[in-house]
Amino acid sequence: MRIVTYRVDGEVEVGVVSQDGLAITPFDLPSDRAAQGLLAVLDAGQAALPLRNTEHTRTLREVELLAPIPRPRRNVLCIGKNYYAHVQEIARAGFDTTGVGDSAPEAPIVFSKLPECVIGSEQPILLDASVTQELDYEAELGVIIGRAGRHISAADAMAHVWGYTIINDVTARDLQRRHRQWLLGKSQDGFCPMGPCAISAEELDLENTSIRCWVNEELRQDGNTELMMFKVPALIEAISAGITLLPGDVIATGTPAGVGAGFDPPKFLRAGDRVRIEIPPIGILQNRVQDYPA
Ligand code: MG
Repeated sequence: MRIVTYRVDGEVEVGVVSQDGLAITPFDLPSDRAAQGLLAVLDAGQAALPLRNTEHTRTLREVELLAPIPRPRRNVLCIGKNYYAHVQEIARAGFDTTGVGDSAPEAPIVFSKLPECVIGSEQPILLDASVTQELDYEAELGVIIGRAGRHISAADAMAHVWGYTIINDVTARDLQRRHRQWLLGKSQDGFCPMGPCAISAEELDLENTSIRCWVNEELRQDGNTELMMFKVPALIEAISAGITLLPGDVIATGTPAGVGAGFDPPKFLRAGDRVRIEIPPIGILQNRVQDYPA
């Protein structure tokens, strides 16, 4: 199942995309709940939630897509340094702030992004040159929790996963370095593009799914989920050991090699750049970088 949250005729709706990818049928939800996107569907219990009749069906071309969860209830949970080639490129470039250097972390590195920095596909990533000169991209698979749990074992973890989306873990490297903690560098307004849709768990093979990212026409990241050092069940086990995971929580699972900071010289984002992330079963998350309005 493929779910999108979108705006049409001034209203936000959340709906199911047809098999051919062309049409959307909205769930029958009051508008204040539909504005929560996939969260409202998870809260209601997807199986119990009726779809509106076919006269409400839209085509994808007529709607403005929003992030599948436009405003998560809690911070987006994120994993740092989960692909070894990315650990190496960050260490080589002198951007390591964790102390692991070029070694694989012994346990997952977990941080978070504020919910307010989520934007949808095709919405601009704003570059505020008064705040950062080192704007970077990180293509990542996002895991969406569907069932609450605490102290979830890796063996049981997948029963708590509803599905997946694409995340761009946009990062200001200079803020990350200067402030040592990552919150400022990771949570600037607009720093969490998410979308274009969410797909349910059975549609994606966690053992072998490619993650690619282009900046303009240049392929920068070409990774695969098989290269994750801590797999999704291990991440859920580690996070939920003492924190209750809730439906609608999103875990960004780390980025493969090829971020801008890893090049010599670095290739940071500039206004006008287009960042395009493709994870085939999910689709394409695409955002253009724009100067912050004066
Ligand atoms: Mg990241």
